Amino acid sequence: MSSSQLPKLQTPITFLKGVGPQKAESLAKELSIYTFEDLLAHYPFRYYDRTKFYKIEEVQSEETFIQLKGIVSNIQIINTGKKRLQVTLSDDTGSIDLIWFQGIAWIQKSLVLKKEYIIFGRPNYFNGRFNFSHPEIELAETREASAQVFQPVYSTTEKLKLKSLDSKGLGRITKNLVSELKEIDIVEYLPTYIIEKYKMLSLYEALINIHYPQNDSMLQRAIARIKFDELFLIQLKILQVKVERDTVFKGIVLEKIGVHFNTFYKEKMPFQLTEAQQRVLKEIRKDTLSGKQMNRLLQGDVGSGKTIVALITCLIALDNQYQSAVMAPTEILAQQHFESFSLALGDMPIRVRLLTGSVKGKKREAILKELLEGEIDILIGTHALIEDTVQFKNLGMVVIDEQHRFGVGQRAKLWSKNTLPPHVLVMTATPIPRTLAMTIYGDLEVSVIDQLPPGRKPIQTLHKFDSQRLAVFGFMKKEIEKGRQIYIVYPLIEESEKMDFKDLMDGFESISREFPMPQYQISIVHGKMKAKDKDFEMGRFIRNETQIMVATTVIEVGVNIPNASVMIIESAERFGLSQLHQLRGRVGRGADQSYCILMSGNKLGTESRQRLKIMCDTNDGFEISEFDLKLRGPGDIQGTQQSGVMNLKLADLSKDKQILILARETAQELLLNDPLIQKDIHQSLKNHLNSNKNSKTVWSRIS
Ligand code: ADP
Ligand code: MG
Repeated sequence: MSSSQLPKLQTPITFLKGVGPQKAESLAKELSIYTFEDLLAHYPFRYYDRTKFYKIEEVQSEETFIQLKGIVSNIQIINTGKKRLQVTLSDDTGSIDLIWFQGIAWIQKSLVLKKEYIIFGRPNYFNGRFNFSHPEIELAETREASAQVFQPVYSTTEKLKLKSLDSKGLGRITKNLVSELKEIDIVEYLPTYIIEKYKMLSLYEALINIHYPQNDSMLQRAIARIKFDELFLIQLKILQVKVERDTVFKGIVLEKIGVHFNTFYKEKMPFQLTEAQQRVLKEIRKDTLSGKQMNRLLQGDVGSGKTIVALITCLIALDNQYQSAVMAPTEILAQQHFESFSLALGDMPIRVRLLTGSVKGKKREAILKELLEGEIDILIGTHALIEDTVQFKNLGMVVIDEQHRFGVGQRAKLWSKNTLPPHVLVMTATPIPRTLAMTIYGDLEVSVIDQLPPGRKPIQTLHKFDSQRLAVFGFMKKEIEKGRQIYIVYPLIEESEKMDFKDLMDGFESISREFPMPQYQISIVHGKMKAKDKDFEMGRFIRNETQIMVATTVIEVGVNIPNASVMIIESAERFGLSQLHQLRGRVGRGADQSYCILMSGNKLGTESRQRLKIMCDTNDGFEISEFDLKLRGPGDIQGTQQSGVMNLKLADLSKDKQILILARETAQELLLNDPLIQKDIHQSLKNHLNSNKNSKTVWSRIS
């Protein structure tokens, strides 16, 4: 909902009938409801269908509020224990007790024996049978034909309940509000042509019907309109950023394909690119020829071969005399990129350098100098690359690997490193559902590598309980005999860091006992170690000097050790799905059959069970992320905080894909016709966007 210009909606809530200063204060404190508008935006989260009647024999759970119709008999006051009024309600399937502890006299007086009543409430299970305590009750013959069919149910808080603002109480004041509002109080900001095209309800109709629907069809239309608005406004803002960027910033044109690219392609390419890799390169090529700055997100599952795409992209920049920067989230990864770039380029005369936090002193100075003088072609590093002291001669291409570790601000810093902003390729191995990508990265072009290099054997994933550990040890020994290497990963979650550390150390000890030296060598890497020691241990494993790597999630992203073919994840139930998928992606990189073994305690909740099951069922990161979104909503997915997704009230990215696509297309069309949103027909929309500028959502440039 919007902050509109007309004063009515801005009226402080205390002026609403039924809300005094005390209630107003509580509404503000508990639900941040200050004005009419805020209350109007507190949508019901469900509705009771008051056309539906249950039979008494159907009353079989305490779960939800239901409505019954029956004849009242046996009205009596019972004085044993707590004094109560007890009434029998009967229909043709049975009878059930209605009970009141308060207001007894008044109810007793108003009830008429043998008359038919409608009651509404939630069943209680007590002493082996169901009853209703304090149900709503009304004479069936006086229920108006026009009575509210769908009764709204509102979320509330314990404190509000004490001020008689439970769901029903909120319903009462919302009813007052709705009856006070007229069509003109609610400014329609969508242009008429959009409303007509999709036969939408007006904003006024939608807001009234979302609280008090006339009927089911109106309710559905109201929900659709409000969901559309939520998604449309986000899309409009994101796409505006893109339009602005495309019009304001010129981009470097990488005209030529030259000697570096050609030599590499013809002589050095270690394999044939997959079709998906070729397609992505074409897309990048098109962007870098367009005269606009490229802002492209490359999504590719772990092991899909993003590195070579990055390398070739840098070669295209170099063919046009531009430098490239490649940023990785950790030193280990930067080191690995540096090595794989150097290895792939072999004796080609290309100057690749590594700059991380641990490159210091003279060595660092030398690199900075060479960089500024244009003597370095490709600089690979960690976030050290974006420090102010790092100045390029002519930076043309920035590749950011594993984007989610980089903050928006860090990316923005890169912009200033050249007079024309460099092209930006953001690579991520954390697949996210398309709906979410459209929203979080809505201003980026998206490329997907949806194909693994040929000849990979799918990783086999198994779930084992702690009680099966001996068998797992046996399996490990067999794999080591075959020459394979094994990761064992322990959770590290901040809140319980101490305990996790103990688990890790206990685990390390028991592994050391089970796999004694000198027959076996074990590495250990965890967050409390110094970077130097970590690298040392990692190095031993990379060189195949150790067979087992015991680690926390520090090895999660990027590491490429093809001979490591078994990934054992301890307490797997404590990891998120995308993290499990990332970790699993550390194996399956060589020619051998790889395995991922998810260890868990014997007792598991339903959700944990479902998560471990989907891991065993599929290797497809996109499928897993769709499942994750359904299971947990977007809150846990990286990047959602800045995207406005968290302010969605009704729209649900796992379910409302169709509406989202419609909203995005509508926004695209609108901006195509009116890039700056300044035509008369968009005046109201523009006002609305402006009035929302300072709202909670932080709009971010992705790069
Ligand atoms: P990621 O997308 O996870 O960064 P990498 O770029 O590290 O994946 O690639 C994983 C492995 O696959 C590397 O060993 C790489 O050399 C290899 N690879 C990449 N592309 C191909 C290809 N087209 N054919 C064969 N192997 C490939
Ligand atoms: Mg990678």
